[in-house]
Amino acid sequence: MQQLTGKVAIVTGASSGIGYQTALLFARHGAKLVVTARRQQELEALAGQIRSGGGVAIAVAGDVRDEQLAQRLVQIAVERFGGLDIAFNNAGAMGPSAPLAEVALNEWNETLATNLTSAFLGAKYQIPAMTARGGGSLIFTSTFVGYTAGMPGMGAYAASKAGIIGLTQVIAAEHGAQGIRANALLPGGTDTAMGRAATSAPGAREFVEGLHALKRLAAPEEIARSALYLASGASSFVTGTALLVDGGVSINRT
Ligand code: NAP
Repeated sequence: MQQLTGKVAIVTGASSGIGYQTALLFARHGAKLVVTARRQQELEALAGQIRSGGGVAIAVAGDVRDEQLAQRLVQIAVERFGGLDIAFNNAGAMGPSAPLAEVALNEWNETLATNLTSAFLGAKYQIPAMTARGGGSLIFTSTFVGYTAGMPGMGAYAASKAGIIGLTQVIAAEHGAQGIRANALLPGGTDTAMGRAATSAPGAREFVEGLHALKRLAAPEEIARSALYLASGASSFVTGTALLVDGGVSINRT
């Protein structure tokens, strides 16, 4: 059964990995999509794949650090599809991989801008459109890093992603009465370009897999299914949560 029939969704970070798979899944469930990331060719390929499967998608290339992009994505959803119901604010970057005392201010600022300020900018324009629609679902991709685990060398990333959880709680409290839900999705290690880059050193992949109770990384499709849950009516009483989808990395001690 299609779970998003008649819904309109924005997906950021849609050119690869979790965002790409989530856009495909949302489209298969009947949502009309506005997809975005910087790499235009990959986005066009995604939109083409959605259309060839009978779905509807508009690709808009841009940088999530740009406030005008945030505004434009919502405008396109409203003008072309009549409104906005779902926003998967998923774009993100690892930032510097270094002990905190060696992180330069500009690297810190860039990471916060890409991972956290982008979430604020997205929500700033998505909330009024959802209010006009009588409700909606905002989903933000966070991580277990900085929430259940302090991982050395990931200070800027952890701070930006933990900030998303606080932002999510405030949005949920501010806009619940308008039928708007806001949730953070916290994947464990996931087999995407980012996941592979983080585990590229010799032996690192086996080490990171071993940190998870399930002894493997997630496939991006598995994270997409949880995004679908948070986007759909199946999670109608779920708001303000930090939903771990982490293969047990947060509880594992073996
Ligand atoms: P990915 O394949 O590298 O995807 C990252 C996406 O973010 C790409 O589509 C990228 O598109 C986009 N992006 C990055 N910076 C951007 C910017 N400034 N403006 C616009 N788009 C930007 O990695 P992924 O694993 O799917 O990552 C998706 C989300 O999951 C991220 O927020 C990440 O932090 C989170 N996450 C990942 C893991 C993991 O192990 N992989 C675990 C927990 C959480 P362009 O390069 O085309 O702009």
